[in-house]
Amino acid sequence: MDIAIIGSGYVGLVTGACFADVGHSVICVDNDQRKVKSLQNGIIPLYEPGLEEVVHRNVSANRLRFTTSTAEGVGQSQIVFIAVPTPPQPDGSVDLTYIEKVAREIAEVLKEYRVIVDKSTVPVKTGEKVADTIRRYTKGAVEFDVVSNPEFLREGCAVSDLMNPDRIVIGSNSDRALSLLKKVYEPFMSPIMVTDINSAELIKHAANSFLALKISYINAISAICEASGADVERVADGIGADKRIGRSFLNAGLGYGGSCFPKDVAAFIAISDQLGVPFALLKEVQRINQNQIDRFIKKIKDTLWVLKDKRIAVWGLTFKPDTDDVRNSVAIELVAQLLKDGAIVKAYDPKGAEKVAEFGLCKGAVLAKSALEAVENAEALVLATEWNEFQSIDFVQVRKKMHTPLIFDGRNLFDPETMKELGFIYHGIGRASTR
Ligand code: NAD
Repeated sequence: MDIAIIGSGYVGLVTGACFADVGHSVICVDNDQRKVKSLQNGIIPLYEPGLEEVVHRNVSANRLRFTTSTAEGVGQSQIVFIAVPTPPQPDGSVDLTYIEKVAREIAEVLKEYRVIVDKSTVPVKTGEKVADTIRRYTKGAVEFDVVSNPEFLREGCAVSDLMNPDRIVIGSNSDRALSLLKKVYEPFMSPIMVTDINSAELIKHAANSFLALKISYINAISAICEASGADVERVADGIGADKRIGRSFLNAGLGYGGSCFPKDVAAFIAISDQLGVPFALLKEVQRINQNQIDRFIKKIKDTLWVLKDKRIAVWGLTFKPDTDDVRNSVAIELVAQLLKDGAIVKAYDPKGAEKVAEFGLCKGAVLAKSALEAVENAEALVLATEWNEFQSIDFVQVRKKMHTPLIFDGRNLFDPETMKELGFIYHGIGRASTR
């Protein structure tokens, strides 16, 4: 199949590369000239395990190309995917200007039948608006269909999620469009769920809100564990072993961040409000999430007493491991709060430093080149993102380098007893501190 993907970011680029890898011919379009130039030169503008290899393989095989021209993408493809941003507005509702702009741009170059597939995360009923917009801006009577195909990939394992999805949701009101979409996904051999467009759009917000709710649920329990002397890890194991519940997304920590969960929860609240059926439960999910980082910072302050001029090492800046994405990262918020209180912060992240610099984040913090460099002479170490690299570090060295052996583990990555044996005072989340 000939496919165009409009928007070549985390979702668009990975989707395009994986579609090409199963044999489709793909043009990735982006209006960021620098990004397209770098992709044309073989430089991948984001870090995602395995992505570089898939992109290079398919560019060499002439199955994957990059352009800034929407006309070229639409002109040469049967199916056009939209994967542009849907950021939040100050009131939490979704800013749909990127989607509307792409709809107009497609309409202006539409000459024959195309399936327009929305892969961006959008409020229910957006498909109708996209179709209305294309109809209004198309020159002459051109046939087209709009389909919803929400994306469920996780950054950090996006390539493998794309190649082996749990399910593929296709919301379509047209049999013609549906049969073309099925051809796109046939090679993936994964379950395809066909719904109407509104249901497909709703599935995405409902799924992300549920995952955020699960995280906030265990985080609320972590506060109860701290107050009662229980251990949240044991509690999570105990409830997660129940197949009806499952252990995933029951890891207590600093709360969820990133480019999706915070905005999608806020969006779902706004959508339900607009529909006149307020989803109050999700406001509590947000409150617990904010409370989690506030409680953690309070723990740091209660222990260190005064933060001004304290040398604090922070490990991890990305919103989760195995990505370079620092958008809405809780770790970045944590660093900002420590700096605000006058702490001297030296941070290290295995992949995130470039994006931190690009977005001008953590201004005032020193970015170290290694985890060990970050802890040099530190009075405390804060683990903010659970990269595997931190688990295999030689803590005897860490202990030697630190001024004071104090660890705040914001992701419960380390074993408290091991840390105690190594001579550290350890504070985790929802579990007893050791000294
Ligand atoms: P992103 O910011 O990484 O990428 C979006 C790309 O679209 C950018 O490269 C931007 O330059 C480009 N763009 C914007 N307007 C354009 C236009 N008019 N023409 C061509 N290109 C244009 O965003 P993302 O993380 O890939 O997210 C895209 C959508 O997918 C969002 O709705 C998001 O909620 C959803 N989503 C994201 C993830 C994720 O993990 N990142 C997962 C599932 C769904």
